[in-house]
Amino acid sequence: MNRHPTPHPVVELRAATKSYPGGVHALRGVDLTVEEGELLAVVGPSGSGKSTMLHLMGTLDRPTTGTVRIAGYDVSRLSDARLSALRARHIGFVFQHFHLAAGRDAVDNVADGLLYAGVTLRERRTRAREALARVRLDHRYTHTPDELSGGEKQRVAIARALVGDPALLLADEPTGALDTASGEVVMELLHELNAAGTTVCVITHDNGIAASLPRRVRFRDGGIVSDTRAARRPDPRTEVTGP
Ligand code: ADP
Repeated sequence: MNRHPTPHPVVELRAATKSYPGGVHALRGVDLTVEEGELLAVVGPSGSGKSTMLHLMGTLDRPTTGTVRIAGYDVSRLSDARLSALRARHIGFVFQHFHLAAGRDAVDNVADGLLYAGVTLRERRTRAREALARVRLDHRYTHTPDELSGGEKQRVAIARALVGDPALLLADEPTGALDTASGEVVMELLHELNAAGTTVCVITHDNGIAASLPRRVRFRDGGIVSDTRAARRPDPRTEVTGP
């Protein structure tokens, strides 16, 4: 699937809702546009709908009502196969607990990020090594997850997310399981990727991280309660610290 020839926002949610059986309204009508090249934090209390929205943005799920467009494509109108292709072509994921395959070395974990890209194993491994070099892990190619620190595991996960050159990188609490120093390295990498053109969306509980990003979208009770952009450099002293 080629990227759309005319410019579209990377993400466009219009009146998007998500309900689960039993009357759980996880999202209650969300409007959000994310333009190419943005770096945004999604913040809010536990249970406010952040992960649900990330799942919609990642096309892992479809909205109950409303529309979700990714790179101009309405996810509700695509078959599962087309949706998988859209996801493989456009979106990379990073999770709090890394989700690496145990017993497989760093190169093969990253190469798995290209499983649906239609390239040979040899090519996948070559590109995996390049991606690992980008996250400065070229000295860890043959290490398995149990031979890596938490911060290194998350860098492998970031390499896996970026190896397919996605337009959109979605990170759900990427520093949540890391010590402060490793978390800072991970955030530096996300900033670098963004500077190189990737649109990055980070769910975080960490107000310090949120304050350091140029846009902050705050959730409460399944809806967006504020959406602020730093005028120039973000100033933590002016950050609203919560509902
Ligand atoms: P957050 O990421 O902000 O912690 P979530 O998006 O995970 O919030 O959850 C929003 C609400 O939706 C919560 O009440 C949660 O219990 C509920 N929820 C999330 N996923 C499911 C599911 N698969 N089935 C039922 N309820 C769910």
